[in-house]
Amino acid sequence: MLRRHFLQQAAALAALPVLPGRFASASPTVVGRSRGMTSAQALRINGERLNGWLGRFDAIGRTATGINRVAYSDADLAGRAFALDLIRDSGFTPRLDAAGNIFALHPGSAAGLKPLLIGSHIDSVTDGGNYDGPVGSFAALEVARTLRDSGTRLRHPLEMVIWHNEEGGTIGSKIAVGLFTEPELDKVARSGKTVREGVGRIGGDLTKLASAVRKPGDVAGYIELHIEQGGRLEQAERQIGVVEGIVGLRWFEVTITGFSNHAGATPMDQRQDAMLAAAKFTVAVNEAIRSEAGRQVATVGRLNVSPNTTNVIPGQVVLTVDLRDLAQATINRFTARFEQLGREIGAATSTTFRFTQMVNSAPAISDGRLLEAIEASANGLRLTHQRMPSGAGHDAQEVAHIAPMAMIFIPSVGGISHSPKEFSRPGDITHGANVLLQSVLAADRALS
Ligand SMILES: [Zn+2]
Repeated sequence: MLRRHFLQQAAALAALPVLPGRFASASPTVVGRSRGMTSAQALRINGERLNGWLGRFDAIGRTATGINRVAYSDADLAGRAFALDLIRDSGFTPRLDAAGNIFALHPGSAAGLKPLLIGSHIDSVTDGGNYDGPVGSFAALEVARTLRDSGTRLRHPLEMVIWHNEEGGTIGSKIAVGLFTEPELDKVARSGKTVREGVGRIGGDLTKLASAVRKPGDVAGYIELHIEQGGRLEQAERQIGVVEGIVGLRWFEVTITGFSNHAGATPMDQRQDAMLAAAKFTVAVNEAIRSEAGRQVATVGRLNVSPNTTNVIPGQVVLTVDLRDLAQATINRFTARFEQLGREIGAATSTTFRFTQMVNSAPAISDGRLLEAIEASANGLRLTHQRMPSGAGHDAQEVAHIAPMAMIFIPSVGGISHSPKEFSRPGDITHGANVLLQSVLAADRALS
């Protein structure tokens, strides 16, 4: 440790208060206490090492247009090899499950307890950035290493994980919770390779996929550190996001049927204009979703107009609605509201609306004890924080099916993600990893 960092850490230690509440009570492996704090509470990750790993990782899959470590590509394989080397260099023995997810284990002291799981992913989108996934993955390794190097034993085993092909729709974690279905093996990743081809390529074994499945109760808890990928934390000037859950999502296709007729010869009061109905509906969806307080969002994102010709009244429009919120009841309520708007606008424009549900995923709600653990950790580290939903999908939403989970967000500069301009400050990454470390320690005490 550089002297500068030692002094900073010493100053930070002296400034830290005794934590109130239950997270202050237990103290695993006390090496030395300072000012009422347990040694575990004084433990900090090595931010320089963690940011150094991320800096080196940035070179892998870097192209002129951004980071391209799409799942099953050569760059993805190189990224995984880099991660496996880091795990070995950190003194752990990496393990691959049959799905190709990477694990490393720091054994616990109590017999019979299921592991605490921490991690994220290292694959990227096409022309993406170096922070979406790698921050949480390498922070998880850094946390495990910090605990091991300091001689800190948790009651629970601690497993760090790097899930494979998150950007393909959380494939590796979905396999690990038993929700992956046979037809999804033919899903094509951005590399052009199917999951079927890819799993073998990354060292998994398709014939043994069932062995990768963990059942409810097999994992004590899961915490994922991730960049926010939006601008809320930056706008609110908060250092840490305490993620209450990952929003549920419903997609509809709405088919609006009118009547195609001559644009010159048909009087304005005798038209069945599907485009006009679609326009009114688009505005009505926006007004309805904004008419209530809350964080629900709805988007009309795609319009297919037919015949899509200058001199013909549109006879049909097929449009899509994307509706998201953390509360299932809100999603259900707005679904009914949009259908009602369709009936009203249809009656007013002499058109018919038909709704077809395309995608429906339930919200994944974070565990209250883990949220408290994260908040207590952020308080202990004197970091500002706020609770918030995640509007983007994450591996944590899959793990939520089998275990208590929560996520920690750090700010994305400019709210930009899935872009070469994606950036999170080294200081924020260090803060996030320290919150992860302290949250693991708190979760070790709070969870059975
Ligand atoms: Zn991600």
